[in-house]
Amino acid sequence: MTELLPIVRRKSLKMKVGNLYVGGDSPIVVQSMTDTDTGDAVGTAEQIIKMVCAGSEMVRITVNNDAAAIAVPKIKEILEAEGYGNVPIIGDFHYNGHTLLTNYPECAKALDKYRINPGNVGFGNKHDPQFKMIIEKAIEHSKPVRIGVNWGSLDQELADKLMQENAELESPKDSDSVLRDALVISALTSAEKALEYGLPRNRICISCKVSRVRDLIAVYRDLASKCDYPLHLGLTEAGMGSKGIVASTAALSVLLQEGIGDTIRVSLTPEPGAPREKEAIVAQEILQTIGVRSFLPLVSSCPGCGRTTSAFFRELADQIQSYIRTQMPIWKEKYPGVENMSIAVMGCIVNGPGESKHANIGISLPGSGESPVAPVFIDGKKAHTLRGDNIASEFKEILDKYIVAKYCVG
Ligand code: SF4
Repeated sequence: MTELLPIVRRKSLKMKVGNLYVGGDSPIVVQSMTDTDTGDAVGTAEQIIKMVCAGSEMVRITVNNDAAAIAVPKIKEILEAEGYGNVPIIGDFHYNGHTLLTNYPECAKALDKYRINPGNVGFGNKHDPQFKMIIEKAIEHSKPVRIGVNWGSLDQELADKLMQENAELESPKDSDSVLRDALVISALTSAEKALEYGLPRNRICISCKVSRVRDLIAVYRDLASKCDYPLHLGLTEAGMGSKGIVASTAALSVLLQEGIGDTIRVSLTPEPGAPREKEAIVAQEILQTIGVRSFLPLVSSCPGCGRTTSAFFRELADQIQSYIRTQMPIWKEKYPGVENMSIAVMGCIVNGPGESKHANIGISLPGSGESPVAPVFIDGKKAHTLRGDNIASEFKEILDKYIVAKYCVG
């Protein structure tokens, strides 16, 4: 018998971020990042709420100047007033984090986690004291820290030193391999320094982001074997549209299957007019399709072919998917377990009945030349036959009744 291999999570320390846990046996957390001017507290809070509604469980905001630092407590106040006060907000600091966290203690207090990039903390003899200042602020305010190294802003002095050492070897490695090593060393030595300065071990999370899939996989395998800090996964600069989605999915899937990763972010460049929060939807979909978490019922639909000339089944699949997303905030409160449900929307008789039988609810629409009826299967058995102009609304009614009957606990 062919069996599924279980996903065995790497053992990592458990870290508290606001009211949420990351690492250990906690579910893998979906993160996202805003692209508003953080100084615009209202606009940033609005985008955070959209991200959360789309599935983000933690949201990172850039804190890059005085106006942004001043806005942070206001953003938290707005979120609190709107009922989103539990969402952890992470401050992203580059170059001036030590100054902002010192000059704006209300900002330091309001944030739930600080993200520091060791390559952008300060240069030369300023690096260590400025890094220490940020860690001391994290200790003072009891905040966790993500040490987030990035391929594009790697500590240049460290990279140069490793390149030099490599060049002197009898059999030098290729330069990409040295840079991958440098990313891991930068993250882990920064974590060691944070520990020396007094930050508890269970308040450190690590990421080492690169933009190429195979490099990311190699770097995280290395990191995972060398430490037990929770790991934040993400392919940086993943790109736009399908390219960004495919690249992120390709990289994250391999690592998640190997049990590596405690939080994830999908760094999509939004297409013009596309909502920023799509990155949270994609992150949820990656976790759910791999089978490590369930967020909402999944809709399977066939691609369509010459056997179905009508676009009706595509529209129905789209309508059902949108309906699920809008209903999910209510359903998840009233119908626990509904997120594990599966739905099939199929275009014709060839695979329609078979695929529909594998889902909790499936509909097989009539293809070209078929009798204009749509059988509906519930838990593998044919339960209804729909026909006429109201197939979509009747199918939604059947779906609603099924959810109430199967998942209502009241
Ligand atoms: S189920 Fe029917 S319409 Fe859909 S792809 Fe298969 S043959 Fe084509």
